[in-house]
Amino acid sequence: MGSETNSVILVCGDVKGKFNALYNKAKSTVEKFKNVKALFCIGEFFGENNEEWDPFRKGEKRFPCSIYVTGPCSPETAAHFDKIDVKGGGNLAENVFFLGRRGVLSLSGGLRVMYLSGLQSKDDTDQTWTFARRDYNYLSELKQCDVLLTSQWPYDVYKKADKKPNLSDDVIKGHCKTISVLAQINQPRYHFSALHDTFYQPPPYRNSKGNVTRFISLANVGKKSEKWMYAVSLTPVWRLSKEEFRKEPAGTTETPYTGPEMTKFAAALGYREPPKRALQKADDSRQYFYDTPSQPTKTKRKHSEISKEPDNEVIPKMPYKLSGGDCWFCLSSPNVEKHLIYNIGTNAYAALAKGPLIAFHSLILPVEHLSSSLSLDEDTFTEIEGYKVKIRAMFDSMNFSVVFFERNYRTPHMQLQVFPIPKNVGPNFANTLKKHATINGFSFKSYDSATTHLKSVISPECIGYLYFEDSEGQIHICQLDKQIGNRVILSFGRRVLADVDLLNVPDRVDWRSESCAMTTEAQIAMASKLKKNFPS
Ligand SMILES: [Zn+2]
Repeated sequence: MGSETNSVILVCGDVKGKFNALYNKAKSTVEKFKNVKALFCIGEFFGENNEEWDPFRKGEKRFPCSIYVTGPCSPETAAHFDKIDVKGGGNLAENVFFLGRRGVLSLSGGLRVMYLSGLQSKDDTDQTWTFARRDYNYLSELKQCDVLLTSQWPYDVYKKADKKPNLSDDVIKGHCKTISVLAQINQPRYHFSALHDTFYQPPPYRNSKGNVTRFISLANVGKKSEKWMYAVSLTPVWRLSKEEFRKEPAGTTETPYTGPEMTKFAAALGYREPPKRALQKADDSRQYFYDTPSQPTKTKRKHSEISKEPDNEVIPKMPYKLSGGDCWFCLSSPNVEKHLIYNIGTNAYAALAKGPLIAFHSLILPVEHLSSSLSLDEDTFTEIEGYKVKIRAMFDSMNFSVVFFERNYRTPHMQLQVFPIPKNVGPNFANTLKKHATINGFSFKSYDSATTHLKSVISPECIGYLYFEDSEGQIHICQLDKQIGNRVILSFGRRVLADVDLLNVPDRVDWRSESCAMTTEAQIAMASKLKKNFPS
């Protein structure tokens, strides 16, 4: 692939209040490289003296690119984040975003950056500056990323290097084995850490998938004698050919995460090194990156819609077989969570989404087990169109615009998703969709919603479709073929809406993530607000 697909990201070590040094360096680096997508700050962002922060906080001074900050590593610095949701993240200043405890950020251009904030909790409890086993569990199930950011160092990372880091035994003992296992599972191309005010880079090491990982520790921001900011120019992993993916620089070593101690620890976390033949079986490089399981010994979670269906399942043609016995959405089914429903009609009803992307994220659903808009009878179709009008009016009165979304792919019961979005970002939708479609290889066509209906567009040959109806009078339709991976299709709608230019909630793409969890009480309160506001 040519360099036109390369994105540049910058990573720096502990800022510790040196915001002006960070600003100056970021400015000169952004001018030097084209295509800088973001600057990531790992380790401690705030320090003992944070006077330089004020102009940024007040918006008087602005960084030249988006800054993403991982979480605090001590109770003292955690106090600076106290007004923000530590798990979910939020804005620290105009273009300075706190990432929250852990997650993956997908940048425009397609680079995926995984991050794990703070230090590992000693007793597996939740502190604002620590991460726990469940955070590891969450990240260990995600697909391969280009870059991994952990403030804490992985245990043993220098084991195969001739030159060891200049650190005391006590410091080395504090390094994190859980992070070593995460690096073995995810096999990022770069792994950055901080916290020791030292620049250290052992030789790259080879992973079981055949690619190399470069580990780099960065010094504190502003240090004169050592490197504290690093620029990485990368083509996203999923755009690489197999040869490019496995290219090895001279001096590459075996993985440092070996030996009985490490193997025993990894096994206790449920990880075992995959057999070597997994490498030879991967003929299609695209397939390889998405679908090669990185944890062959681990059983998949049972409660999720996504994991229930194996990835190699034969994809049925539309329409789906009707069998609604244990459906989550058939109104007559015992599995329906009634407290989420806020309006019931004759043939359709409206309910809050579980694991919402944003407050009031809703679904319009047929009462009967019908698989998509295309399989609705005339009465149900008319009623759902009526729901759309009323729901737009309701959210308009609450100062929101609305984007509707339907994914007709592996969805046995039709769900028309309703995303309320701030009115000022409504016009951003078409461009944001275009950006994500390009990254993921989807081909969308746009139509005037007043004159075109889905039914007249969809070919009976396609295996499903994605349908968006924006707040600006346009519908956008992509007819699916078998070229695109299942997981990409399943998360696409939420991923687009979560974009920084729309709802800006990168940590909430996965509906099962902790940041999307709500108590039943909160769900009841939200549903009752919509019951009250629903137009009669
Ligand atoms: Zn159903």
